[in-house]
Amino acid sequence: MLLILIILFFNSPEPANISYNAFLEEVRSGHIEEVHIHGSRVEARDVRGHKYIFYKPNNPDFIPFLRRYLVKIYLEGEPRGIPFWGWILLGGVLVGVLFLIFNRRPVSFPSQFFSFVRSRARLIRPEEVKVSFQDVAGVEEAKEELREVVEFLKDPHKFTRLGGRMPKGILLVGPPGTGKTLLARAIAGEAGVPFFSISGSDFVEVFVGVGAARVRDLFVQAKKYCPCIIFIDEIDAVGRHRMAAAGGGHEEREQTLNQLLVEMDGFESQDGIVVIAATNRPDILDPALLRPGRFDRRVEVPPPDLRGREAILRVHARRIPLAPDVDLAVVAKSTPGFTGADLANLLNEAALLAARQGKDRVDMEDIERAKDKILLGRERKGIIITEEEKQLAAYHEAGHALIAYLLPGVDPIYKVSIIPRSRTLGVLQQLPIDERHVYPRDYLIKKIMILLGGRVAEEYVFGQASTGAGDDLEKAVEIARKMVCEWGMSDNLGPLVFPSGDYLGHIARGCFDMRGYSEETARKIDKEVENIVRKCYEKDRELLGKHIKYLHILAETLLEEETLDGETLKKLLSDLEPLKNGVFPG
Ligand code: ADP
Ligand code: MG
Ligand code: ZN
Repeated sequence: MLLILIILFFNSPEPANISYNAFLEEVRSGHIEEVHIHGSRVEARDVRGHKYIFYKPNNPDFIPFLRRYLVKIYLEGEPRGIPFWGWILLGGVLVGVLFLIFNRRPVSFPSQFFSFVRSRARLIRPEEVKVSFQDVAGVEEAKEELREVVEFLKDPHKFTRLGGRMPKGILLVGPPGTGKTLLARAIAGEAGVPFFSISGSDFVEVFVGVGAARVRDLFVQAKKYCPCIIFIDEIDAVGRHRMAAAGGGHEEREQTLNQLLVEMDGFESQDGIVVIAATNRPDILDPALLRPGRFDRRVEVPPPDLRGREAILRVHARRIPLAPDVDLAVVAKSTPGFTGADLANLLNEAALLAARQGKDRVDMEDIERAKDKILLGRERKGIIITEEEKQLAAYHEAGHALIAYLLPGVDPIYKVSIIPRSRTLGVLQQLPIDERHVYPRDYLIKKIMILLGGRVAEEYVFGQASTGAGDDLEKAVEIARKMVCEWGMSDNLGPLVFPSGDYLGHIARGCFDMRGYSEETARKIDKEVENIVRKCYEKDRELLGKHIKYLHILAETLLEEETLDGETLKKLLSDLEPLKNGVFPG
């Protein structure tokens, strides 16, 4: 806007309103009384008071000519570029822009300039923290390591007596919802020292230099309170790899990060300041942050395992009255992959469901329904589905279930249901018997076969495919692709990995070549993926074709009952023998 205004004011010539020849003629006939020359602009007035405006010709005879006809000549300076009202307008625009910027935050006017560069850190005093290590469950290793930090903060000399150095920075790394923020707060509670809490995004501001100033201020404050803890949540917002700003550096973030590095070098751990940071994207952090002397200790906060989940459930169940039929061990077993936050959410939903029905305890059924709601979306009671759609869903799910039943060594079936939900019309739930950490190739192939089972059953019974299997196919292809590209499980391409476009990660490392292999290899990969999926599909067709009788039994029972649990399903299929190992394609 400023630019446009300036251009307008400096470059706006008033159009001439008379031709030059006509003007000369007017002069000759004695009509022109006076001429004002402002630089190159000429303003003439005739006897009747008419104004003529044009540009001064580049002719040395112009003025003598005027004098000959006794015209009064006024020579004046260049016209001013921006008239008075123009300045007022400009000023108004500037004030408006500033107002918009500052008005984003509810800060009172006089203090806003000064508080702008203050760190946004919140100082939490020890007596305010109500979280302790007991409230964090299932991450024993992380707790163990952090306990050491707490001991250090309580008595620094005990550790530095022999010349050792405590870590200055601790990086908590783990997926969202695993309790990183909670852990940091627990440390504050346990250590009994002041705790500065700030989120990485609080440093980020449109103005260059503000983030850096805030970092400086944070450390100045912290030094007044040592021993103390500085906690920077979601540090990836500032600590991103400095190459990461694709297309023209991100000056501001870079400065902030540099300031953080400088500050971390600037204090000694004897001072009793410990910086704890949390992130779920350690891969995009700037390596300089991870160097010894900065965030040199890395504490993993993984998603909980079976025992961890049970422990977390126990922590959260302390606030909730449970009916005697609730077995948290069973709940933990049926929630593989849930993080701490998911589990907290599960119990909360269950408590709400129970309260809505006027119960005074949460029972197993509430938890079960809450889990389905979280995993599959809300039940859609009002939805109208046609008889055809219902049949389709029943055969689709029966297809998944029958394949899962036939294949040995897969996760046992927990539940099949065709109750429509916000995201699906039906579902097959399996539960792992024990938590796996590595998966053999065979397991993956069988997983693909189960995923394809729904589609194959539809085709068998209705003679055509439907859109209902889209999700399944996507998942199946993804597993197959990972088998080829990430786990080196294809015969033709061998035990190689082909890193694919993890877009953010690549950008973060400043690498724009997304693929590290040739066009030809890409084609081979596609072929291999197709091969795997196709073979699984053929095997499914063979299996379902052979046992079509049981497919009908399953689907019809599903149509009547809507939900079948694992036990019922086994009884229904009791005279069908599951396969023995070693018959799988690929
Ligand atoms: P993160 O910071 O790792 O994304 P949070 O610490 O914010 O996750 O966790 C969110 C909530 O989930 C916590 O407030 C807590 O109620 C629950 N939670 C997560 N992990 C755990 C855990 N290990 N033990 C107990 N509760 C947990
Ligand atoms: Mg967090
Ligand atoms: Zn399906």
